[in-house]
Amino acid sequence: MRRKRVIGNWKMNGGLAANAALLDELLPSLAVLQGVDLAVCPPFPYLAQVAARLEGSDVALGAQNLNVATKGAFTGEVGGGMLKELGCRYVLVGHSERRSLFGECDEVVAEKFASALKAGLVPVLCIGETQTQRRQGQTEQVVSAQLQAVLRRAGIQGIAAGVIAYEPVWAIGTGETASPEQAQAVHRHIRALLGEFDRARAEATPILYGGSVKADNAQALFAQPDIDGGLIGGASLEAAAFAAICQAAAR
Ligand code: PEP
Repeated sequence: MRRKRVIGNWKMNGGLAANAALLDELLPSLAVLQGVDLAVCPPFPYLAQVAARLEGSDVALGAQNLNVATKGAFTGEVGGGMLKELGCRYVLVGHSERRSLFGECDEVVAEKFASALKAGLVPVLCIGETQTQRRQGQTEQVVSAQLQAVLRRAGIQGIAAGVIAYEPVWAIGTGETASPEQAQAVHRHIRALLGEFDRARAEATPILYGGSVKADNAQALFAQPDIDGGLIGGASLEAAAFAAICQAAAR
């Protein structure tokens, strides 16, 4: 039985006062939930602030990106060891905004995944097709290629030590959510692909859905057999909405 998990991706949003207010409102509602693993991923400058505020709660900290290198002359970049030292448990890898806006290809994403594992972090591998790729019937082919790049680099044991987030690009930040059946079909495909390498590890690997998850659609998505929770963008910035989504994933 896989535990449900909900991770909030704040993207490039927040500020000292706004973060404090959000967490003050959110944490009491999350404290009563059971049977679900929760995390929030603020921007780098606020990791220490949020880490301090999360102390004593069951909500984990995550970052949104890392560099493949551990240290060195990479101005503006952040290594996995630094994130670990700041208290991060998770790091997002290959978010579609990183792929489309910052040119991260499958090979770089795979390297980042391996680097996160090496630093003792749990990488959250984001994969998903664009609207055009879906219309052309390429969804399974695209997510398979994205996954296979990471499988080649980190192996099935590496993948199983992380988390996968299926995030159709056309659903991210658009208000257009995949239907529970559409999402489940891709999640089942992902698990079947992993199962070709190791059935037990495929069964144990958490596969989250992301893409305009809201309080009113979370329950139906999370009820699908291969959907193990959500990666939440916009709604993670609103305490009531994020709490309701976490509640939908709780036992
Ligand atoms: C995301 O950024 O990973 C995401 C799923 O965003 P949203 O929930 O806003 O679609």
